[in-house]
Amino acid sequence: MPDTIPARQLRIGDAVSFVHRQRTLHGHLLERQGQRRFARVIDTEERIWKVPASALTPTGGPRRTVLLTPFDAERAQWRLGDRVLFDNAGNRMQGKIVKLNPKRAQVRCGNDVWNVPYPMLQPIDAHDRTRAADRLRAVAAMARGCMDRHGLEDWTLAFVESRRRLGDCQFGDRLIRIARHHAIEDSNERIRDTVLHEIAHAIAGPEAGHGPLWKAVAQNVGATPMARAYETDPG
Ligand SMILES: [Zn+2]
Repeated sequence: MPDTIPARQLRIGDAVSFVHRQRTLHGHLLERQGQRRFARVIDTEERIWKVPASALTPTGGPRRTVLLTPFDAERAQWRLGDRVLFDNAGNRMQGKIVKLNPKRAQVRCGNDVWNVPYPMLQPIDAHDRTRAADRLRAVAAMARGCMDRHGLEDWTLAFVESRRRLGDCQFGDRLIRIARHHAIEDSNERIRDTVLHEIAHAIAGPEAGHGPLWKAVAQNVGATPMARAYETDPG
């Protein structure tokens, strides 16, 4: 029996291969799309591919335990509402960011919306654009350390675009995600508490909710043992 798992059971962070122009590329599952019919894969050169899920082969190789992609770092530098400049066939365009997609920002210029790759954007208001990426890397290192210390070596850490939650725990994928804005803007102490809160969920299991078992684990790992408003309040 081959030492691999079926493609439909792949978790985020699992090692996969796929064929592109007769070459086999190796990488890790980054996210699922289109009701799981497509996947985004990050290859060994940090390039991101959209691949039909049926074309992925699980390799059984080591999981990737930090999913901090070049695009996370680029996207982290921008906020909704930022005013930006970009070139379009020699024309200088000016607009406002209305959506942050994985590879491109949507920029509204008058009545039109343009999809602009992040490296093409220039800020109008000067502010520090490198800090956000450094901050994400530091948070990833801190979170990874906490996860390893609490026995979650084969869980993966990723960042997510979410205004509603500070973090979440995806049991099926063995994935802890931290909201990008939280990681970039909040204090170390608050971010660490979020990481430990999610670690407690990972250890206590999906059935525990925020009940007595989870509370005991939370206390044990050093997280504030209470559910926070952001988790139950969809606002
Ligand atoms: Zn929780």
